[in-house]
Amino acid sequence: MSTRQTTDDTRIESIKIGPDDPRYLTVVGKRFNKLFRASPDYVRLVSSTDEVVAAVAEAVREGRRLAVTSGGHCLEGFVSDPEVRVIIDVSPMKRVYYDAARGAVAVEAGATVGETFRALFETWGGVIPLGEYPEIGMGGHVVGGAFGFLCRELGLAADYLYAVEVVTVDERGQASSVVATRDTSDPHRDLWWAHTGGGGGNFGVVTRYWFRSPGASGEDPARLLPPAPQSITTFKAEWSWGDIDQPSFLRLLRNHGTWCERNNGADSPYASLWTLFELHRKQFGKIIIRGVSTAGAAAERQVDDHLAALGEGAGAPQAKELARMSVKDALLKKPLTDRQMGVAYDYLTRNDHDVMGGMLGLATYGGRINTVALDATASAQRDAILDLACNTGWLDPRVEAKNLTWVRAFYRDLFVESGGVPVPGETYDGALINHPDADLADSRLNTSGVAWHTLYYKASYPRLQRIKARWDPRNVFRHALSIRAE
Ligand SMILES: Cc1cc2nc3c(=O)[nH]c(=O)nc-3n(C[C@H](O)[C@H](O)[C@H](O)COP(=O)(O)OP(=O)(O)OC[C@H]3O[C@@H](n4cnc5c(N)ncnc54)[C@H](O)[C@@H]3O)c2cc1C
Repeated sequence: MSTRQTTDDTRIESIKIGPDDPRYLTVVGKRFNKLFRASPDYVRLVSSTDEVVAAVAEAVREGRRLAVTSGGHCLEGFVSDPEVRVIIDVSPMKRVYYDAARGAVAVEAGATVGETFRALFETWGGVIPLGEYPEIGMGGHVVGGAFGFLCRELGLAADYLYAVEVVTVDERGQASSVVATRDTSDPHRDLWWAHTGGGGGNFGVVTRYWFRSPGASGEDPARLLPPAPQSITTFKAEWSWGDIDQPSFLRLLRNHGTWCERNNGADSPYASLWTLFELHRKQFGKIIIRGVSTAGAAAERQVDDHLAALGEGAGAPQAKELARMSVKDALLKKPLTDRQMGVAYDYLTRNDHDVMGGMLGLATYGGRINTVALDATASAQRDAILDLACNTGWLDPRVEAKNLTWVRAFYRDLFVESGGVPVPGETYDGALINHPDADLADSRLNTSGVAWHTLYYKASYPRLQRIKARWDPRNVFRHALSIRAE
């Protein structure tokens, strides 16, 4: 059942931090991507849903533009926007507990991915297939669909979302909290659906998520989520760029693409293997593959098989150990073509770009993700075999321009045949909203004639627009790539 609660109690007050407070910088500076910087009038550190309602109501009443943050890992400047006057930080809200009334495991939005993994495992031996970086905040992560090292075996985190609590603002400017579930009888079900891939900062402030596997029931929380893998084997292997010439580079990439295509099924014995192929620039010296296997005793064999398949005709990796940021994302339904592999070789090796941090990342995708119906969630990309990312990172602001020039040109040339972007169709499946990129909305860089929202949401966009119109009629929650109401 859904509930809706409003608080008129203006005495409910969270911690308010102005620019003179030393804590201000810890929130404003809590950005993984330092390319963007905010200067809000104040920050609210909130500890409860009521505090969020009061903080949102205050900002709306004062006419100040607001943004919410959880883990600070946005790749774009959605929170660090100079026009944002109030930042609401939900990171004090970190509880993970079983909610018997809803028959689901509740996770507050301020918990990080690492904290959530740990709490689920330690309390119930369970898991949700979250992202692979422990400091990401649950608040902004799950609403974007969320893929990670268990995705080929278990799907997206959003596929396990049973309910969400959100603080929204109505047409009169009143803030209130609402719980929306996936129950077909729930009149607020559309808001739940929007939180299965619609992206953060669009509809309201998420305060809590509840998770339960589709079809699971009963009162034992240990049975409501997938069991954690018996064991996890991580690995990393490297090739030295000194040993790689153009033919062996192309062979390596071709082997990798072929492997991903062949082993993409949810029933593949390799669905328990997830890898990230890091093709760094030649000046970095190495090409790295790292990954995670949950195949237990068979893991080492699985990893060896995978590395042998990759290295065939290209040379084995040198080091194997069993044991990062402008990101331009694309989902591939097919391996890279010979032309694209040539472009990759060119951008990774040419000397006219001095870009030490540049790399091409290829993460395995598909598997269980691709078993979910297109309209079952707002995560509309259910047909990809690979997630490609052109990345770069830098410390010195003086090299920013050349890094951005390199990464934009690289991405454009990879997708030059479809207007510089991965237009959804036979070969590509668009891009992930959890890896947002405002360049896709720039008609000088995206010359495909296909709108940015089609790249992220495909045919789901009109439905998201209707939900936006219903739940955020005043467009309080907005950023450079936010959903526009109809
Ligand atoms: C190093 C790194 C690794 C990553 N790895 C993965 C990965 O493996 N898989 C994956 O799917 N993604 C990954 N991401 C992307 C990440 O999931 C998204 O950037 C996510 O939105 C970050 O959430 P956050 O709360 O940490 O960030 P924030 O910067 O706090 O927020 C990001 C966006 O979500 C909104 N938001 C934050 N909290 C809330 C809330 N409580 N309610 C509503 N909106 C909110 C913000 O307003 C903003 O628009 C990675 C990002 C980085 C930087």
